[in-house]
Amino acid sequence: MTRPPRTTRLAPSPTGALHLGNARTFLANWLLARQAGWRIVLRIEDIDGPRIKSGAADQALDDLRWLGLDWDEGPVFQTSRLRLYRQAIDRLLRDKLVYPCICSRREVELAASAPHAEDGSAVYPGTCRGRFATLEDAARLSGRPPALRFAVGPGPVAVHDEFRGTWSCDPARELGDFVIAKGDGTPAYQLAVVVDDADMGITDVLRGDDLLDSAPRQMLLYRALGLGQRIPRYYHLPLVVGPDGRRLAKRHGDTRLAHYRGRGVSAGRIVALLARWLGMEAGEEAAPADLIQRFDLSAVPRSVVVMDASAERFLLGR
Ligand code: GLU
Repeated sequence: MTRPPRTTRLAPSPTGALHLGNARTFLANWLLARQAGWRIVLRIEDIDGPRIKSGAADQALDDLRWLGLDWDEGPVFQTSRLRLYRQAIDRLLRDKLVYPCICSRREVELAASAPHAEDGSAVYPGTCRGRFATLEDAARLSGRPPALRFAVGPGPVAVHDEFRGTWSCDPARELGDFVIAKGDGTPAYQLAVVVDDADMGITDVLRGDDLLDSAPRQMLLYRALGLGQRIPRYYHLPLVVGPDGRRLAKRHGDTRLAHYRGRGVSAGRIVALLARWLGMEAGEEAAPADLIQRFDLSAVPRSVVVMDASAERFLLGR
């Protein structure tokens, strides 16, 4: 019997243009995949309602192609897969693994987004756990449809991370019950990612370590959905930060690829910088395809990479 090929995904969220930090993670993912002969699916994570910016999906695809990255399947848009998420939500409801929650909208929205807060989100205190017999009871009390939270069971989860090594976490104590669907029925990031990764046969997930805490949550969801055999291999890479040590963002100035592109910086120049940030010597210009054989995951820096003035000078050729 032939085994299905190993498969990974590039999964941009169209919440803004790609910046150097995202681009570095995508390049690492692509190099690892192309070196090992894995299939690559391009998935646009566009269910995060209010944060989605129109045109950002096209821009992300264009930026990735411009850099010289490609993929074997997609783009697949999460918004075209709502039926699959609904089935998973219904199954979790049926199995009583989730419960209605009417806690403040802001808290639910925060929890429903890819958890990008730098300090991580607060542990949900369990206010609504065991509080309502039915969804209708919860809706009656709050006057609107409730969100759904996954009831995290006690005990440790061991996360095998191919980059960081194995670590253990006690999700009930450290992370708490998390939202899997908003009141309007929109699936939350954690649920959509697990449903998609399982359905698409994703075997290897490489992403920024801002999503480190998502791994144990997602493992719990795989198991709850009877998909424990499909838990992927995880690789969480440290992020690119600004000179102040905080995650690269607008406050550090414009580090979007589009910005450098507009200033005449070549894709090769950017790839050379990203490659350097991945522990490779890539000269002044490089194409992703030329780096495939040289990429070495064990040479990727173990700590954050700083986008500083010398990186900016390198890009602008000054
Ligand atoms: N779409 C997420 C992001 O851009 C990545 C999610 C994931 O890799 O699990 O941060």
